This record gives sequence, structure tokens and C-alpha cells, in this order.
Amino acid sequence: MYEKEFKKEYKLILKAIKEYDNICVFRHQRPDGDAFGTQMGLVTWLKDNFPNKTIHYVGNNTSTYGEDLFPYMEVVEDDFFEKDFLAIIVDTGNTKRIDDDRWQKAKLKVKFDHHPPVEQYGDINVVANEIAACAELIADFCFYYSKKYPVSKLAATYLATGIITDSGRFQFESANDVTFKTFAKLLECGVLPFKDIYLKLYAKDISSLVFQKFALNNMVFTEGGLAYYILKQKDLDELGIDNERGKEHLSLMSNINGVEIWFCITEISEKNEFRVSIRSKLIDISGVASKYRGGGHKQASGATLYNLEEELPLMIKDLEELIKNEVR
Ligand code: AMP
Repeated sequence: MYEKEFKKEYKLILKAIKEYDNICVFRHQRPDGDAFGTQMGLVTWLKDNFPNKTIHYVGNNTSTYGEDLFPYMEVVEDDFFEKDFLAIIVDTGNTKRIDDDRWQKAKLKVKFDHHPPVEQYGDINVVANEIAACAELIADFCFYYSKKYPVSKLAATYLATGIITDSGRFQFESANDVTFKTFAKLLECGVLPFKDIYLKLYAKDISSLVFQKFALNNMVFTEGGLAYYILKQKDLDELGIDNERGKEHLSLMSNINGVEIWFCITEISEKNEFRVSIRSKLIDISGVASKYRGGGHKQASGATLYNLEEELPLMIKDLEELIKNEVR
């Protein structure tokens, strides 16, 4: 499906995989389902098919996904990165967001991504801008070679999870025929979406319901078509949740008549900043996200605010302006 576009790159990447005894797969900070899904899907495919190589995966863990969905990350000692190794970096548009600086030490760097190509940091770059999930791209690469190097059920489960999460459960505009065809091929590898993915993805505890109540009680609706909730450190403390879970109830604000763009803001007190997760029905929000130290996709982007009092009204104005222009 993407193999026509990336045939040359795919060949070079397979050659590199064969050549290097040491490989490490990296992904972006504050990982979501697609970051984990692409990373672990690729790692599993590599381990299944190249059992004699040393293959690592790094990055911080997150409380958003339990260990039954994705394994905890490895702690890899520095010595590994002193050897000649191949770094494959997935789902990360720019170097600042790569979750572990040691990717820089790699002899060869491969980038697989679906964010706007702001920084082509790989020696080999496979970037399909605005496809629903990076997992689609990794799946495409693995299936291209699957006659010789098959895709196991586990690898397919990770990749299918990436597609489900980053396509907004197939609801975003970017979920198209290729997304579904790729997903179907993954299911043919034996994945049972309900049992293997949804049951784990939607598992929640009572604290999540208490948080949901907070989000509903504290939602703000603006006349210009926005909805949002803010979680300060004291709220996180009271709810007994960590800041990685801040966006957990973002989808409560989707599909509301009159709300075109919605977001949540979570205080990251250890960094003295506020993390914004923005979503939209149809309007492209990625430009405003970039303006506020972020980026992402048309309907799902992230940003960072330093001074809430000063910057929030400005961001609200910019987002409302997008809606106004759309209506015009
Ligand atoms: P989030 O709201 O954290 O779920 O992010 C939504 C989407 O925007 C994901 O695809 C992220 O990879 C992307 N994103 C979030 N923050 C940034 C950033 N600072 N730069 C580029 N992309 C981002």
C-alpha cells in the first residue's frame, strides 16, 4: 500500500536490519497507544524474525496503559549504546520529542513517522504525513517482507492497538480504506480485537469514574465553540491520579453540538508547565498547537503553556478564530 512510495527505503532498512547485530527502537515522549504500538510491534517482529540479534526498546513508562497492553520499557545500560547499533525511531516528528537521547549515538538512524516532516533526522526516512497511525506504516513495512519474515499474532496485536488508538477508534477523517485494509491484514494474523485489545484498553478503576465526575463538573464551554477542562496539581492530588492521565476524559467533550474544538490542560508541576491536549471535529488545529510549543495532526494535537493566566486567553482566541474562519 505504501510500498510503492517507499520501496527504496524499505530495501535499505531491511539491509540495515540484516547488517546490524544491535538494534534499538525508540519512540516519542509521553507515549500514546500508537507510539507504544509501533515500537512494540516492530520490536516483536524483529525479535521473532532475527532471533540472533540484540534488540532493545527504550523510553519512559506511563500509567496510561497497563502492563497487560504493552510491556514495561527496558532499562538498557549505557554500554549497549557504545557499540555500533541501528536506531529505529518511530512515530516521532522531531528530535526534541525522542524519548531517550542515546539515539544520537547510533551509527545508522531510521525514521518511521506520520507527523508533518518538520525534521528529517534519519539517515533513512519513511514519513507518510497524515496517515491515521504510524502503526499503519510499520505494518506495511512488515507485511512487505512477511513471506520471508512473518508477522506474529503478538506483533499484529501491538500494531492493531496503534491503529485503533491513533485513528480515534477509526473516527478521525484520516481513517481511510488503507487504514481498514491494513487493520484487516493484522486481524488475519489472529488478533481478536475485543479480547486482545478492547477489553484491556477500556479497563478502568473507580478512580477513573471519580475523575470523570470532576471533568464533567469542571468543563468550560465558550461561546466561540470550545470546550475544555483544567487539571491543576491540587486537582490531580485530590483525585489521586498522575499527570499522564490528564487527557483520559477528553473524549467526553467530543461530538457535542456547537463544540468544534475541545482540549484539556494538565499541570506538569515538575516541569513548571501545562500540557494541552487538543482535539477537533474537522478544523485543522495543528498550526495553533505549533504556535504554543507543540504540534501533531489535523484533529489531534498537543501543546505546552508556561503561563496559564497569560497564554490561555490567547490560545482560546486563536482557536476561536479558527472556528470563525471555518464558518466564514
Ligand atoms: P496528545 O494530546 O498528547 O495525545 O497528542 C496528540 C497528538 O499530537 C499525538 O499524535 C502527538 O504525537 C502529537 N503531539 C503532541 N505534542 C506534540 C509536540 N510537542 N510536537 C509534535 N507533536 C505533538
